[in-house]
Amino acid sequence: MQPLPLEPICVYVSQGKEKMTSDTGERIRFHGRHKLAMEIFSQRQILLPSAFVQVDWNNVNKALHAVHDIAGTNYRLNKCDGTHSLLCPSCLTAKETCAHVLMCEEADRVKCFQMSADNLHSWLRSVDTCEVLEVHIMRFVRSMNSERFLIASLESAGNRDPILNRLARSQDKIGWRRFMEGMISKEFCRYP
Ligand SMILES: [Zn+2]
Repeated sequence: MQPLPLEPICVYVSQGKEKMTSDTGERIRFHGRHKLAMEIFSQRQILLPSAFVQVDWNNVNKALHAVHDIAGTNYRLNKCDGTHSLLCPSCLTAKETCAHVLMCEEADRVKCFQMSADNLHSWLRSVDTCEVLEVHIMRFVRSMNSERFLIASLESAGNRDPILNRLARSQDKIGWRRFMEGMISKEFCRYP
């Protein structure tokens, strides 16, 4: 973090926590967008700043379409073409927003959600996720919107690992819906 002896000028971003060591342009743009996004997410009540800073933004990529409701749901398509139904094609009762896609209770949608969860479970196993994380992540995913579930799940299992507890608290701050949209806690990268 300190300037090197033969480095009279260097650039810091992220309130002095990150020193630029190579091409600075991309990282400066990243931090600029990061700050702007934190303000917009707070204004639009997507994530409070305290939850925003928990997200691993370096690794989040496609999440933004879902959080701003600009994914190709019927609700969004209806905004472009008023003749297009805005209803969920499965239950035909609610507007098909990104939030609804995750929460629709129509039987086939629930089946589809469970299949997606199964795929995630297979992937976690294929990349050798440690068993504790695998179990609790899957309980969290299948909980469908339980609040503070991850930490509760760990506590009920008698977890004493402080690193795992920090991870769970961090992810719980971000919440289930945002987790499902790809907003993963930065603490996952720090877990051994
Ligand atoms: Zn529905």
